[in-house]
Amino acid sequence: MNILVDLHTHTISSGHAYSTITENAQSASTKGLKLLGMTDHGPSMPGAPNLYHFGNLSVIPPKLYGVDILHGVEANIISHEGELDIPLRYLDKMQVVLVGLHVICYPGGNLDQNTYAYLKAMENPFTDIMVHPGRPEFELDLERIAYTSKNLGIPVEINNSSLTPNKGSNWDNCTQFAKYMKKYGGMVILGSDAHFWDKVGDFTLALELINKVGIIDEQILNTSPDKVLDYLAERRKCRASIR
Ligand SMILES: [Zn+2]
Ligand SMILES: [Zn+2]
Repeated sequence: MNILVDLHTHTISSGHAYSTITENAQSASTKGLKLLGMTDHGPSMPGAPNLYHFGNLSVIPPKLYGVDILHGVEANIISHEGELDIPLRYLDKMQVVLVGLHVICYPGGNLDQNTYAYLKAMENPFTDIMVHPGRPEFELDLERIAYTSKNLGIPVEINNSSLTPNKGSNWDNCTQFAKYMKKYGGMVILGSDAHFWDKVGDFTLALELINKVGIIDEQILNTSPDKVLDYLAERRKCRASIR
């Protein structure tokens, strides 16, 4: 399986990542990626960029080292109602919006509260991709998320970084989630969640996991840039519907 797109990468702008967009793009090019998402954390994460960062992304060339660059954000869910930490007018400028739960940014809750918040965020017309539901920090109804992903047509990520040994035992959760995605047939996307250039385009562990579970190429969004861009173009129509 050839993964040609990495939509989930961080730069020094995130505050706890250590490479520039130039270094990330160079790394993506070396690894044969065609499309790279620059998706730094939303402003409620300590050290993350302020809104001006997101408003000025257009200064970055659309292509670096032969790799097309998408301006984006990894927005934080900040309430039990699934609200995001970026105003709509900034989200509207983004070419790709990832959404996830993060410690510090989200008040925490029980299984029902967390699942409700995650699903409400998934319903947001500005949300393109939901990320790392398999992380164990917040208890989530993974089956319901997989079912809703299929129903709403919102891809959910298998996050490579969550599977690295220093992240504890996320394999069980992520494997269970992948099994539910296979069962319900929603689109899966693999994300490196790189916080340093060498990890851009590294999907080794996520690929191992989905191969074990038996998810086939057709269910993976980022096997081709066109597939990703067509999907994002469809999502833009949803934004237009609420403007
Ligand atoms: Zn994240
Ligand atoms: Zn991330």
